[in-house]
Amino acid sequence: MGGLASAEELVYGPVRSRRLGLSLGINILPPNGKTCNFDCPYCQYGWTRVSSGEARSWPAPESIVSALSERLREAKLSRTRVDRLTLAGRGEPTLHPQFPDIVRGLRAVRDRESPDTRLAILSNSSTAEKPAIRAALLELDERYMKLDAGDPMTLRYVNDSPISCTRIVEALRTLPDLVIQTMFVSDPEGRMDNCGDIAVGPWVRAVAKIAPRKVHLITLDQTPASSFIRPVSDVRLLEIANRVRQSGVPARAFLSNS
Ligand code: SF4
Repeated sequence: MGGLASAEELVYGPVRSRRLGLSLGINILPPNGKTCNFDCPYCQYGWTRVSSGEARSWPAPESIVSALSERLREAKLSRTRVDRLTLAGRGEPTLHPQFPDIVRGLRAVRDRESPDTRLAILSNSSTAEKPAIRAALLELDERYMKLDAGDPMTLRYVNDSPISCTRIVEALRTLPDLVIQTMFVSDPEGRMDNCGDIAVGPWVRAVAKIAPRKVHLITLDQTPASSFIRPVSDVRLLEIANRVRQSGVPARAFLSNS
């Protein structure tokens, strides 16, 4: 689901971000191209439909775990304090066929090498209804889950999701202690944005139903797949954040220029 600027290595960084502090990124996806079941026009890795035809191989859980172990030992030696270990990378991490095994292995390494560091994920929420994935998500300390729309048409425009809005919201509603992460984008021609009142109303209602611990509202800060879309203005992002707060859910807007 992206979110942290990622390299091709299994473990990359540390990367400093406003939302996650100093984070080591863990990319458990195949090394070439992007692996995702969404096709967001704002994706920093380009269109999924362009990259999905290439043959890929999934990294083995043992390689991921040993790469993390090595990086945590290096961090300890250099006295670098890492706030988070974040499953992110070029696509959706939960698509790895051995995702539950990987989470177990990463947790064991974290507990051994750096017990105070939080283990987190950036996910597009598309697999959150699957029992094995849900169980693995609950093994993590922090879950940053995408919800960019609260109605089917906007979901199709902004994510091209294979899963319906109703199923995503229901899966998130029954997962505890989430941060919802929403990317707001504008399209001057009105083709594919989620920042107008028609899209924001159902989205706020969906967020209130999920009742997350917090909502992070973000906008474009990388080159998007589509040349049509633009960042949302700071004023509009703050207005939307206020609407979320009025519904009783804590919200923070990450402005494009802060
Ligand atoms: S969820 Fe969207 S933004 Fe994230 S990697 Fe997939 S296509 Fe890109």
